[in-house]
Amino acid sequence: MTQSPTQTFSLERPAAYRPRIVIVGGGFGGLYTALYLQKYRHLKQCSIRLIEPRDRFLFTPLLYEVLTEELLLWEVAPTYQNLLMGTNIQWQQDRADHIDLERQRVTLCQGDSFHYDYLVVATGAQTRQLPIPGINQHGMTFRSLEDVITVKARLDHLAQTSQPVAVTVIGAGASGVELATKVADRLGGQAQVRLVDRGNQILKPFPPGLQRQAMIALKQRNVELYLQTQVNQVGPQTVQLDHVELPSHLTLWATGAEPVPWLGTPVSTNDRGQVLVRSTLQLEDYFNVFVVGDVAAPQQLIPNTAQAAYQAAATVASNLANMTRQRQPQPFRYLHLGDMLALGKGTGGVWSFGISLGGKLGGFIRRAVYIHRLPTNHHRLKVARRALRQLGRAIWPFRRK
Ligand SMILES: Cc1cc2nc3c(=O)[nH]c(=O)nc-3n(C[C@H](O)[C@H](O)[C@H](O)COP(=O)(O)OP(=O)(O)OC[C@H]3O[C@@H](n4cnc5c(N)ncnc54)[C@H](O)[C@@H]3O)c2cc1C
Repeated sequence: MTQSPTQTFSLERPAAYRPRIVIVGGGFGGLYTALYLQKYRHLKQCSIRLIEPRDRFLFTPLLYEVLTEELLLWEVAPTYQNLLMGTNIQWQQDRADHIDLERQRVTLCQGDSFHYDYLVVATGAQTRQLPIPGINQHGMTFRSLEDVITVKARLDHLAQTSQPVAVTVIGAGASGVELATKVADRLGGQAQVRLVDRGNQILKPFPPGLQRQAMIALKQRNVELYLQTQVNQVGPQTVQLDHVELPSHLTLWATGAEPVPWLGTPVSTNDRGQVLVRSTLQLEDYFNVFVVGDVAAPQQLIPNTAQAAYQAAATVASNLANMTRQRQPQPFRYLHLGDMLALGKGTGGVWSFGISLGGKLGGFIRRAVYIHRLPTNHHRLKVARRALRQLGRAIWPFRRK
C-alpha cells in the first residue's frame, strides 16, 4: 500500500477522531517520542500505547555510575509505571512479535494484537556476537539492567578478596574506556585492569581532545592498553591474547552492537540490518510508520547514540502531531552537540563545538547535562535533589550528621 506522506486513514473524519498511536520499544527513541507527544494538546485524547517488555527504562549513559555507587539503580533505571503516571500513555509490558504493515496491526508475544493508525518502531540494538571461544560462557556484557547488577555484584566480590585481581575489558570504544576507568576506580590499586582492542587506537570516531583526556585517565589508573591485539579465547579465569594466556578474574566485553532484527512485513534494510527510512523517518511505502533510534538508517549519516535517538524522537512526535492535523511531516536534522565520557569516579571528558574539558569539571558538566536529559520533570527533580545534597555534603564541612 503506497500512501501520500500526510495520508491518514479517513479523510472524512468523525468529530471524535482519536488516532491510535502504537510505539514498539520504550528506550530513548520510543519512550521520548511518547513523552514528547504529551506536549501536543490536540493529541491529549488520542490513544498512545507503548509496548516494552522491560519494567524499567535504562538511561544507558549513566549506567557506569552504578558500579561506583555514584548513582543508585532507581536513578538510572526508573520504572515505566512511575514515569508514565499522569500521562495518556498506556504501557503494555510485552514484546512485539509481528508487525503487519498491510493490516496495520502489531501482534505481541503473549497473543494480544493492536490495530494502529500510526506506528513508531524503536526496538534498538543488541550485543553483536563475537566468534571468540568461551566469550559467551565466561565474558560479561554491559548493556542491560541484569548486566549492571551482575557486574556490580562481581566487582563487590572481587573488592573483598585479598588476592591480586585482574580484569580484562575487550573493546576500546566509548563503552570499553568508560568501563575500564570506572572498574579501576571501583577496585582501587588491588586490581590490574587491561583494555584490549584489535585496532591501533582508542575511541576511534571521537575528537582528538577527548581521546587525549581518555588516555590521561587510563594512565592515571594504570590501565594496561593492549592495542592491535587479538583476543583468541576467554576462559573462566583467563584470557588468551595473541596466544599468551593471562589471568582474568572478570572479562567484560564491550565490542559493539547490531540492530534488533525487523519483525514482520519485509522492509528494505542497509548492510548492517538497519531499516531504511525517508528523511522524515517514515518508512518508504508506509508513511504512517516511523522508525527511530539504533534500528533506523536515515539518509543523513547519524551516529547510533542516545543523543541521536532523543533528537529523532522529538521530530517523530512533531511529525505525528503534524500528520494528525493534515500537515506535512518535516525532515529530521541531526545536530551533533558534542561527546561526553565517564572517565573514572567523579571525573569525565566533555567535547562540544571544539572545546574539550576533563577531570572533575568534565565529570560535573557531564552529570549535569545527563540529569537534565533524564525523562520527565518529576524524575529529573528527584535525581537532581539527591545530587545537590551530595554536592552540599562534599563542599560544606559543618554539615549536620
Ligand atoms: C552501556 C551503554 C552506554 C551508552 N552510553 C551512551 C552515551 O554515553 N551517550 C549516547 O549518546 N549513547 C550511549 N549509548 C547508546 C544508546 O544507549 C543508544 O544509542 C540508544 O539507547 C538508542 O535508542 P533506541 O531507542 O534506538 O534503543 P534502546 O534505547 O536500546 O531502546 C530499545 C527498546 O526496545 C525494546 N525492544 C526491543 N525489542 C522489542 C520488541 N520486540 N518489542 C517491544 N520492545 C522491544 C528494548 O527492550 C528497549 O527498551 C550507550 C549504550 C550502552 C549499552
